[in-house]
Amino acid sequence: MIRSDVHNHTSFSPDGRDAMETMLDAACAQGLEYYGIADHFNYDYDRLHLTEDGKPVPPIDEAAYFERGRALQREYAGRLHVLIGAEFGYDHSTRVQERYAQTQRLYRPDFVVNSVHTCLGSDCYYPHFCDGKTRAYAYNVYLYRVLESLDVPYDYDIVAHIGYCARNATYDDFLLRYEDFADVLDAILRRIVAKGKILEVNTSAKKMGDFLPGTDILTRYFELGGRKVSFGSDAHFAARVGDKRGIVCAALKKIGFTHITVPVCGQDVELPL
Ligand SMILES: [Zn+2]
Ligand SMILES: [Zn+2]
Repeated sequence: MIRSDVHNHTSFSPDGRDAMETMLDAACAQGLEYYGIADHFNYDYDRLHLTEDGKPVPPIDEAAYFERGRALQREYAGRLHVLIGAEFGYDHSTRVQERYAQTQRLYRPDFVVNSVHTCLGSDCYYPHFCDGKTRAYAYNVYLYRVLESLDVPYDYDIVAHIGYCARNATYDDFLLRYEDFADVLDAILRRIVAKGKILEVNTSAKKMGDFLPGTDILTRYFELGGRKVSFGSDAHFAARVGDKRGIVCAALKKIGFTHITVPVCGQDVELPL
């Protein structure tokens, strides 16, 4: 069984609904051993002046986030390994990358989730990202950006939600399949293996099914020597904590994976599946 969930959001994120302690109580109730909060640090959003529903997206209160997180980490010690991490939204601008590096030096998050959300000036989560683009074009833009994101000049542990661009895509055939994007996916997967990073299995997959990346991509990762996978529900409210981890556990075992990797302050903790 999977006993960790290291990609979760709280009310410190603009789209997170529940307080940190509500999320931690849900993790305890789910019998998790390791629970990682990785609220959004959307410096990519700041650069693009992106808005959600016509309103500017407020930046995270970094000092308050880490202060509260560290206090709860102490409070839950002995019951739950709480990890206070961060989700860094990739951007190619050096100024944005330097801000992430600075935040990392200042607050020393327990782990960092490296994510691509923004492509061509908007968040590719939204259906309108597909407007005027073929599926091949839109997904290649996203995937080459993921490849670029692997070489950021700050530390990170997890490569998040590969396939994010397909979650709400409006194409009739919206699946992001290994066979259609094999070249760039191979380059991404080989780079993850070479750099010793962890590939996330994310169960907030929406249209893409129970989890992403799909079994075809995870199988290829395994073939290329990838053994480090993390589990992330990407929960934005308590009822989703640990969601679908039974399904992910069975799928990973079938491919040949034997353990889940949990990044803890620069060290890999391996939990058997
Ligand atoms: Zn994300
Ligand atoms: Zn997230």
